Amino acid sequence: MIMTMIGDKLQQVQARIVTACTAVGRDPASVHLLAVSKTFEAGAVRAAAAAGQAAFGENYVQEGVAKIEALADLRAGLEWHCIGPLQSNKTRVVAAQFDWVHSIDRLKIAERLAEQRPEALPPLSVCLQVNVDGGANKSGVPADEALALARAVAALPRLRLRGLMAIPEPAPDFEAQRELFLRAAAVYEALRADGLEVDTLSLGMSADLEAAVAAGSTMVRVGTAIFGSR
Ligand SMILES: *Cc1c(COP(=O)(O)O)cnc(C)c1O
Repeated sequence: MIMTMIGDKLQQVQARIVTACTAVGRDPASVHLLAVSKTFEAGAVRAAAAAGQAAFGENYVQEGVAKIEALADLRAGLEWHCIGPLQSNKTRVVAAQFDWVHSIDRLKIAERLAEQRPEALPPLSVCLQVNVDGGANKSGVPADEALALARAVAALPRLRLRGLMAIPEPAPDFEAQRELFLRAAAVYEALRADGLEVDTLSLGMSADLEAAVAAGSTMVRVGTAIFGSR
């Protein structure tokens, strides 16, 4: 895709965020945009970066690392987020290459990341992925176990617990979608009430970012609406 087009799409998504915030009386500056570049080549990320976008999300570790390396000249100005399911055998490379991980769903993965995060780098920012649908075969820590996991992760060295991420099933309408996101927001509030210094509620994608913003999202993860369909 040509560069001006990605710049236009980024502007359109930013405008959607502003409109969604205005509708519910929120400050648009309180919602960060994570551009999800999975399946798109490094050149598309470079074009988005040239248009001012700094934070990028990748699902697949190998693909993400290849892009991070291809864009090494931009590394200092970019923030790379690992947003896909994370297996134990991939934690070392993630700890060394990424700035954030959104998909912590068990303590063992967090412990490995803490152990493997290089001392020379700042702490790795992490979010717990919480399962708000209750589906047994979905990834994410069950909502009623999230606080205990959050306390344990917050106590680990080399990591900074930032908050929660959730990917609820698509719902039939705005209100139903918002209701699912609100379940994640309630868990987030429970973490804050417990004294955990979290600042990130990672909710919402291309199709449902308005409902996520209405539920309190502070970071929307948007792929298709920026880069096109996969
Ligand atoms: C692919 C993906 C996104 C972006 O989805 P779009 O519908 O393309 O905006 C966001 N979050 C996660 C975890 C993803 O895997």
